Amino acid sequence: MNSKIKFFQSIHFKIALVFALVLLITIEIIGAVFVRQLERQNLNTFKQQIELPAYIENSISEQLSNTNRKSANKKIKAILSDVNNVNITEIRVVDSKGIIRGTSSVNNQSIVGQKTTNEDIKKTISNNRSYDQNVYDDKTNARYYVSSLPLLNSSTNSSVVGSLYIRANLESVYASINKITLLSLSAAIVAIALGLLVAIVISRAISVPIDEMKKQSIRIARGDFSGHVKVYGNDELGQLAGAVNNLSVRVEEAQDSTEADRRRLDGVLRHMSDGVLATDRRGNVTIINETAVDLLSSSSEESVGMSILDVLHIRQDYTIRELLESEEEIIIDLSTDANELILHAYFSLIQRESGFISGLVCVLHDITEQQHEEQERRQFVSNVSHELRTPLTSVRSYVEALSDGAWEDPELAPNFLAVVQDETERMIRMINDLLSLSRMDAGTSKLNFEYVNLNELINYILNRFDMILNSDDQPSKTYKIDRKITTKDLWVDLDTDKFTQVVDNLMNNAIKYSPDGGTITVRLLETHNHVILTISDQGLGIPRKDIAHVFDRFFRVDKARSRKQGGTGLGLAISKEVINLLGGQIWVDSIEGRGSNFYISLPYVPYEGDEWDDDSENS
Ligand code: ADP
Repeated sequence: MNSKIKFFQSIHFKIALVFALVLLITIEIIGAVFVRQLERQNLNTFKQQIELPAYIENSISEQLSNTNRKSANKKIKAILSDVNNVNITEIRVVDSKGIIRGTSSVNNQSIVGQKTTNEDIKKTISNNRSYDQNVYDDKTNARYYVSSLPLLNSSTNSSVVGSLYIRANLESVYASINKITLLSLSAAIVAIALGLLVAIVISRAISVPIDEMKKQSIRIARGDFSGHVKVYGNDELGQLAGAVNNLSVRVEEAQDSTEADRRRLDGVLRHMSDGVLATDRRGNVTIINETAVDLLSSSSEESVGMSILDVLHIRQDYTIRELLESEEEIIIDLSTDANELILHAYFSLIQRESGFISGLVCVLHDITEQQHEEQERRQFVSNVSHELRTPLTSVRSYVEALSDGAWEDPELAPNFLAVVQDETERMIRMINDLLSLSRMDAGTSKLNFEYVNLNELINYILNRFDMILNSDDQPSKTYKIDRKITTKDLWVDLDTDKFTQVVDNLMNNAIKYSPDGGTITVRLLETHNHVILTISDQGLGIPRKDIAHVFDRFFRVDKARSRKQGGTGLGLAISKEVINLLGGQIWVDSIEGRGSNFYISLPYVPYEGDEWDDDSENS
C-alpha cells in the first residue's frame, strides 16, 4: 500500500504530459492550417502578379492572325521584350499549329520556329482551356509555376489562334513561406516550453495536497491520528482534505470507543469467576479468559486459534455442528489421577439479527466441589440407612425369637433381651452422634467457653479411666495409663463438656483397638502458642492407606470388629468437628501393628503471671 510511486506513474508527470501533448497537438493543427492557408494566399497573389495585361494578349493574338510570319514574329519578339515582370522567367508564344513563335528568354531564341513538345500547350490549343501547375526543375533545383492560356482570335474572340505559355520561378514565394513557418515553429516551441512549465506548476499544486492526503490516510490506517492535512483552498481538493481530516477524527473516536468497549469486556472477562471462551464460526477459539485458562490448564496463546473441541477435550464426543445446533449444557470430566476436575459447560450462539451465526460462547463452571458434596451426601444417606438397618435387623430377629417362645426360656431370654438392649442403645448413640454432627454442620451447636486449666482437666479425665479399671473386679481388658503431663498450669478457653467427650473418645479407641495389658501414653506439652495433647497406644495401628480416612463419617478400618465393640464410626468425625470449632487441629500418625498416636493442638496464649510463678518456683 505504501509502495513508492515511480515518477513516470505519478499524477504529477501525467498531468504535465497530457498538458504538453494537448498543447503540441493544438499548435501542430493550428500551424498546419496556418501554413497551408499562407501558401495558398501567397500563390494566389503570385499568380495575379504574373498575369499579363489584356492588351498584350490581344496584340499577340493579332500577330498570330497575321499571315506574314516573319514580321509577325518580329513584332511578337518586340511585344515580349516589352513585358517587364521580374517574377516571370519565360513567356512563350505558340501558334495554333504548335509552332513556337516567340520566347522572352534571350538565350533560348533558337527554339523559335520549332514545334512545341509541351503537352499542356497542345491540350490548351486543342481544348481551348487554360492549364497551370507547379513543377520542380531538377536542373535548376527550383520550383516553377507554369501556365498555358488559350489565345483567341482578336476579332471573333471564338477560335483558338495559339497559346501563351508562362513559366515563373516560385522560389521567392516559398522562401517567404518557409521563413514564416520557421518563425511559427520557434514560437510553438517556446509556447510548448512555457506550457510545460505552467503544467508542472499546476500539477504540483494538485499533486502536493493529494500526496499529503495519501500520507495521512496511510497514517490513519496505521492508527496514528496525530497528523492533519493542510487545507489549501475551498476547491474540490480543499474539501477532500477537510473530509480526510474529519475522517481521521471520526475513525479515532470510533477506535477509542471500540477500544474502551474491548477493555471493559476484557475487565469483565478477567474478573469473572467462570471460565469464558468465544469462538468464530468454525469453532476456533478467539477469546479465552484467565479463569478458563486456569481451569483447562493451558496457555491462552496456545488455545487461541485451536478448535474448541480440542481445548475442551471433547472431540471424541461432539462435533462443532452438534454444539451449534443443540446449544447444549454438558458436563466435562477432566479428572486425572492427580486431581479431580469436573466442569459444567454451557454453550450459546453468537447470532446476528439477520440470523447469521458468527460463533459460539462457552461458559465453564467448576462443579468438582458440588459433585463431590453431592456424592458425599448420597454416600452419607446410604451409610446411615445401612448402619441403622443392621442393628434393627438383629433386634427384629431377637424379638421374633422371643415372641416365638424364647421368652419362656430362663437362660436365653435375658441374653436375648440384653442384646436387644445393647443394639437399641447403640442405635440411640448413633442417632445422638448424628444429631450432634448435624447441629455442628448447621452451625447451631452452641459452645460454652470456659477458661480452664487443661493440665487439671486431663488429669481429672485420666483419673476417671483409672477408677473404672480399679472399680471393675473383672475387667474385660486391662491397660496402664502413662502420664507425661507438664506440671505447668495451662489455661485455655474451652467448652469442657465437648472437649471431655473428644478425649474420652480417643481414650476409648486406644483401649478398644489395643490388646489386653497395653500401655496408653498421654502427653501434654506447650509450644510457643499451642498446647498439644498426644494419646498413644500400642495397639493395632491403622493401615497407611486408611490414615487419611479415619476422621470420615462412618469410616472404620474393620467394620465388623468396630461394630462388635459397639462403635458407630462417628466418634472421630465428631471429634474433628469439635476440635475445629474450638479453633484447634486433630491428626494422627500410626504404624500398622505397632500402635497409633492421636494429636490435638489448641491455640494457647501463655499467661504472664504463670511465668512469674514458675520463675519464683525455680529460684
Ligand atoms: P468407632 O466407633 O468405629 O471407633 P471412630 O470414628 O472412633 O469410630 O474410629 C474410626 C475408625 O478408626 C475405627 O473404626 C478404627 O478402625 C480406627 N481407629 C480409631 N482409633 C484407633 C486406634 N487408636 N487404633 C487403631 N485404629 C483406630
